[in-house]
Amino acid sequence: MTVAAPLAPPAPPARPRADRLYPTLTPAQLERVAAHGRRRQVAQGEVLQSAGAPATHCFVVVAGRIDGVRPSAAEEIVVSLGPGMFTGEATMLSGRPGLAQIRAEADGEVIEIARDDLLALIQTDGELSAIFMRAFILRRVELIARGVSDVVVLGSTHCQGTLRVREFLTRNGHPHTMLDLDRDPGVQELLDRFHITAADIPVILTCGEVVLRNPTNQQIADALGFNDSIDQTHVRDLVIVGAGPSGLAAAVYGASEGLDVLVVESTAPGGQAGSSSRIENYLGFPTGIAGMDLAARATNQAQKFGAQLMVGTGARRLTCDRNPRALEIGDGQRLSARAVIIATGAEYRRLAIDGLSRFEGAGVYYAATFMEAQLCAGDEVVIVGAGNSAGQAAVFLAGAARRVHMVIRSTGLADTMSRYLIRRIEDHPAIVRHVRTEIVSLEGNGHLERVGWRDNETGRVETHGIRHVFTMTGAVPSTGWLAGCLTLDAKGFIKTGPDLSPEELAAARWPLARAPHLLETSRPGVFAVGDVRAGSLKRVASAVGEGSIAIAAVHQVLHE
Ligand SMILES: Cc1cc2nc3c(=O)[nH]c(=O)nc-3n(C[C@H](O)[C@H](O)[C@H](O)COP(=O)(O)OP(=O)(O)OC[C@H]3O[C@@H](n4cnc5c(N)ncnc54)[C@H](O)[C@@H]3O)c2cc1C
Repeated sequence: MTVAAPLAPPAPPARPRADRLYPTLTPAQLERVAAHGRRRQVAQGEVLQSAGAPATHCFVVVAGRIDGVRPSAAEEIVVSLGPGMFTGEATMLSGRPGLAQIRAEADGEVIEIARDDLLALIQTDGELSAIFMRAFILRRVELIARGVSDVVVLGSTHCQGTLRVREFLTRNGHPHTMLDLDRDPGVQELLDRFHITAADIPVILTCGEVVLRNPTNQQIADALGFNDSIDQTHVRDLVIVGAGPSGLAAAVYGASEGLDVLVVESTAPGGQAGSSSRIENYLGFPTGIAGMDLAARATNQAQKFGAQLMVGTGARRLTCDRNPRALEIGDGQRLSARAVIIATGAEYRRLAIDGLSRFEGAGVYYAATFMEAQLCAGDEVVIVGAGNSAGQAAVFLAGAARRVHMVIRSTGLADTMSRYLIRRIEDHPAIVRHVRTEIVSLEGNGHLERVGWRDNETGRVETHGIRHVFTMTGAVPSTGWLAGCLTLDAKGFIKTGPDLSPEELAAARWPLARAPHLLETSRPGVFAVGDVRAGSLKRVASAVGEGSIAIAAVHQVLHE
């Protein structure tokens, strides 16, 4: 006799997408919202929020209509909201400037709720939380899909700077339109009109004006007001450095347990995981999840609980010898905190080949996401490496590329590679493995055109007309900026808790009678989690686990 596995109760029928994007609150729900805001009259044509201004309030329509208007063509109405419907999208959670103008289409009445009060409501009312969070997230997805943004990137798909700028915008969830110099007719005219030379590429235009020529990530963040709502002067309970899985987990747990949390991230949330096309071994996602999706969910979750995220600016120095701790960040500002979690992870190892930097982003890539897959559709590609990330990239790119060459220095795929990946690689007709082989040359004019590799057994060198190389050869810890402030192991990873010997603690002048907590470094109140920590497992789940666990010790330190 077979025994059927217990089945989950049937899920309620999914509500239509439009309903979830623009839900209408019931009278009972409206009453609960009204308790957190104030009712007021609005006049036809009144601008409730300008595009590009901080999203400080959400408006719920009681009577009349409210429109969301596209910024670049002032009369294009993105959405029109009637009674029971509410304004706002992801910027309500992040506090960044709104993308659309919000305007009363008719005389009427609204409930106006300040952003902080809305966040408080979302944190306490489970039913409304689901409705608002789902609508805000879906609306951002919709804005990206419809290209509703005031940002145009003028660049070339063969230019490293353009790839970086687009990656920065995409990974920070900011919609933008790309005008490709090599493909879009009429772009040259635009270039001439704005006196743009080749050295200025990529250029970012906002509302038809040149704002930034070949900008840094921080300049983009500043121009688009990504960090405007963040007060850098007050002393936080906790500053987290790095918004990969470990830093985001610490932010979610810290903020949800009432800590005043700021996360500082040099590029965009997601870390290494954000560059993974599909993570299949993370608990609860049986069909896998794209790293960027996981990062976006975690970021929204952290912001829902009130954590703030500063992007485009990295930590440059930690001042160890005073309390509160001080962090120096990219623009020379100082951030003060009573506890610090370092979650800076690791950076990709680079190939030791002359002229490599000329091709980074122009044929040499460190991530294999949907964006890179589009660039090499129908072409041959090379993947360097034999570990899990190389395996994932090979299987993923084999869906788009004509042929995938795995260049492997050792005798085969790594012992650490998951069995399921090994099987898929072995079975895939488009994946070719070249063992005991390494890349010896990269050539091209502006973009990678030829790749040379050497069979280390025979010494034979072959050169192939291949335009895309994905380097997936592991990573080194991002600890250079700590400049001797914390005890590191021989490879530069941060030592914590029981891994710190009495001699190391004495050398670091550990000042307390107690030993360091599990994830605490050689400085009290400074913790290290995830891939940057010596002895960590280098997996998403363990990074998330460590970020969450550290919060318990942060509470203890704050009460010391
Ligand atoms: C392509 C790829 C695929 C992978 N696939 C899987 C998988 O399928 N399953 C799995 O379990 N693991 C996978 N991994 C490993 C997993 O992604 C990592 O273990 C995990 O991301 C580590 O998280 P972390 O938060 O510790 O560090 P990271 O993810 O490295 O994040 C660190 C963050 O800190 C930021 N940062 C660095 N220095 C500074 C500074 N000075 N100031 C401010 N911010 C800074 C970085 O920009 C980064 O966002 C993969 C890794 C890669 C590269």
